Amino acid sequence: MRQERGKRWSVRLGLVILTVLVVAFSGCLLQERSNMEEEGCPICPTNDEMLDFLANSTSVSDDIPLSDGFDPPVKPIDGKQWWLAQDFCVYNSKFRGYHLGEDWNWGKSGEDLGKPVYAVSNGKVRWAGNAGASWGGVVIIDHALPDGSRVTSMYAHLQNVIPAGTIVKRGDKIGEVGPTPKGSTGPHLHFEIRTDTSIGIGPGYGKSCKGWTDPSTFIASHRPPLRLVSAKIVWHCPYDPIMVYAFQPFVILLTFKNTGDIEWDFLARATIRSPAGKIVLDVWSSPLKVKPNELADWAEWLTINSSGKYYLEFSLWKDKQTLLEKSHKQISIQALEPFIVTGVVTYHPLIDCWTIEGDDGHSYHPINLSSEFKVNGLKVRFKGTKILGYEGCIFYYAWWECGEFLIRILEIHKILDLQWVFYSQRDAKWINDQLGTCRTTIGKAGCALTSAAMLLRAAGVTDVTPKTLNRWLTNHQGYLRGCEIIWERVADYDGAKGLEWVGTGSLTTPQDLKKMLDEGMLLIAFSRRFAQHWVVIRGYEGAGNQWSDFWYWDPYDLTPVRRKIGDGWVKGGAAIRIYCLK
Ligand SMILES: [Zn+2]
Repeated sequence: MRQERGKRWSVRLGLVILTVLVVAFSGCLLQERSNMEEEGCPICPTNDEMLDFLANSTSVSDDIPLSDGFDPPVKPIDGKQWWLAQDFCVYNSKFRGYHLGEDWNWGKSGEDLGKPVYAVSNGKVRWAGNAGASWGGVVIIDHALPDGSRVTSMYAHLQNVIPAGTIVKRGDKIGEVGPTPKGSTGPHLHFEIRTDTSIGIGPGYGKSCKGWTDPSTFIASHRPPLRLVSAKIVWHCPYDPIMVYAFQPFVILLTFKNTGDIEWDFLARATIRSPAGKIVLDVWSSPLKVKPNELADWAEWLTINSSGKYYLEFSLWKDKQTLLEKSHKQISIQALEPFIVTGVVTYHPLIDCWTIEGDDGHSYHPINLSSEFKVNGLKVRFKGTKILGYEGCIFYYAWWECGEFLIRILEIHKILDLQWVFYSQRDAKWINDQLGTCRTTIGKAGCALTSAAMLLRAAGVTDVTPKTLNRWLTNHQGYLRGCEIIWERVADYDGAKGLEWVGTGSLTTPQDLKKMLDEGMLLIAFSRRFAQHWVVIRGYEGAGNQWSDFWYWDPYDLTPVRRKIGDGWVKGGAAIRIYCLK
């Protein structure tokens, strides 16, 4: 087998050259010297060989490019791997020493002749040339590691080697497997890695392996890093906003490439730091296997729950102690609490959900929308809290439309912007119209009629005035005893849609009144301004916990006057007529 070949001559020659090295590097290799002294120097290099070696030998210089990792010295050819004919540091009785490198072969006997050999890492060629019949072409490369340490790689039995002094990159071709070395049985690559950088060509076999290291093991533990190709933040929305809202889920997406040529297990990690630098999230991937030159993705859903500029760190790890690569990004998180929005309460029958279509263009999903509050079409102003998560049917709806927020209604401030229009019963357009079939006029006794017309306008009926409502009620049995309004009939003016008659009641407490208004009730209240008088309650300001917070319009006024409940005309205990919007 090939294990047998070429050792005797190469080791002898190596020992001879070592004597030169002791001088050249002024570093004593006592072990190797004693080898030489024992075995003598049966085959000496020629003068030319020695001169050539000395001319090309330099001490390790400082212009060695930094190593970015190590690859094997050979690559698979036609899908076929190289194989190790003789391992590192195995005792070889024929040469009475330990093998200081690895012998690499490809294919069957002689097929590896001329196959390329590559620099295992970035470095500078310290020595290259023909080192005699046993060694053949030799290349020695100095490597500087990022941790400040240095190693040399040595390749022997080559042909067509590159010149000494060449700066090489990992993977650069440095020569080819040369013809069968003297004393060997076939072409092969003898490959060494030395931790003792003062070693020259070396003896090939030694009494111990001190100063050398297992080449394959060294390479395996110094592989080039995987490359983090990209690190993205992907929001759950189809767009990529600059900002994400608190509690809005988003995805971090990391893409890696295995730039080496062996399959790797790696770990991905996303770390998020708060504006104060504190880690708020730290997520690891499960180990991922990636083949050479393949890309791998890792995605993780995240949410952050308070405002600020956050610092994201993406990293690749060989294991949880060995960092390979890092990348950074900043994101802004905007909390939504507290915020105040107006919007229309809307029911979606298909999904049986209530939303508030906000005036700001967002669709809000109230989590605790109370049953009393569920009044379709009601315009409300409310205070929202931050997004709390998806619940119930809201979950699905929220996914359909991006940028929607879940909110919790804390407080409904007041009914706003119902299309209230003020009508005066004394407007010239109808002041003298006969009220129903009585011998009186709208101007004199049309307060209930005029209040009802205002209420219909607020309910969205656009074509109603005291004049048209009076005519309609007269023709549709809307008056009792000629001119007393039948309140239920008012709600029928717009047909089946819109206004609904709820019934009668009285002003008991401000809290009750506020609740009714908050629920979207439309109210007509009894007033003591005249013997029988009715007004419309418009809304409230402030907390709505005292009568003076509430105000009304009196249809007897010629222009809208903001009148307060509790003014002596409209007060606690007053009768009310209650309507709501369907
Ligand atoms: Zn060898």
